[in-house]
Amino acid sequence: MLEKTATLETVQTAKETGFLKIHSIESFGTFDGPGIRFVVFLQGCPFQCLYCSNPDTMEFKNGQDFAIDDLVDKAIRMKPYFINGGGVTVSGGEPCMQAKSLIPFFKELKKNGIHTAIDTNGYVFNHYVKELLDYTDLVLLDVKHINSEIHQKITSRRNEKTLETATYLREINQPTWLRYVLVPGLSDQPAYLHEFGQYFKEFDNIEKLEIQPYHTLGAHKWELLGKEYQLADTPENTRAQLTEAHRIFSMYFDDVVIN
Ligand code: SF4
Repeated sequence: MLEKTATLETVQTAKETGFLKIHSIESFGTFDGPGIRFVVFLQGCPFQCLYCSNPDTMEFKNGQDFAIDDLVDKAIRMKPYFINGGGVTVSGGEPCMQAKSLIPFFKELKKNGIHTAIDTNGYVFNHYVKELLDYTDLVLLDVKHINSEIHQKITSRRNEKTLETATYLREINQPTWLRYVLVPGLSDQPAYLHEFGQYFKEFDNIEKLEIQPYHTLGAHKWELLGKEYQLADTPENTRAQLTEAHRIFSMYFDDVVIN
């Protein structure tokens, strides 16, 4: 796992410029932002979420260097499919760990008229991230829990940095979708869903809240990595649990969807 000092800064790729350390690419994503999207999953994450479906993205050293020029070329070739607001999403892992390298990537995409989004847990925030936001059309902000102690139990980190990032996004009026993974017994407590809604309800930059049902699709990857999947006994959400979370969040946000 990355040392704490490394995760607090934007990590530069091994070759310093012109490359991103990536985990994988998805050419026709429909899950991470509007329309059809070219999704680049970056390597490295400061969190260790108990339910992470891609635990192999956590360690920065496991990725492969990929030339930004090649990614731009791929995105441009995909452009005819970017209808209905589609474009490029950079996800992870935690993309803001490589914010410095992402700036030229997003600059090129914007030059070519391509919509850009980042899917972030908001933990890494520095001047590179601020500059990256100048070229970012949409932020998908994953807030794992509104209570910092429970957030730490879920992710290994407290939530103050994520909330500070959210505040900055509000200050610059950055279009933002909140994402919330609903884990039975861990993040579906009604009182905390209300607290979450109360906290964010005045954020005019939030366009949508996405409830992400808990699933166990990544459990086998933990085993492959020789790690224990601690939520093995946690069931997936019932329809009633999802409906109840949707009902509560709809008291605070105009647009709530279950992904
Ligand atoms: S923030 Fe995302 S990539 Fe990182 S550990 Fe959590 S679920 Fe996995």
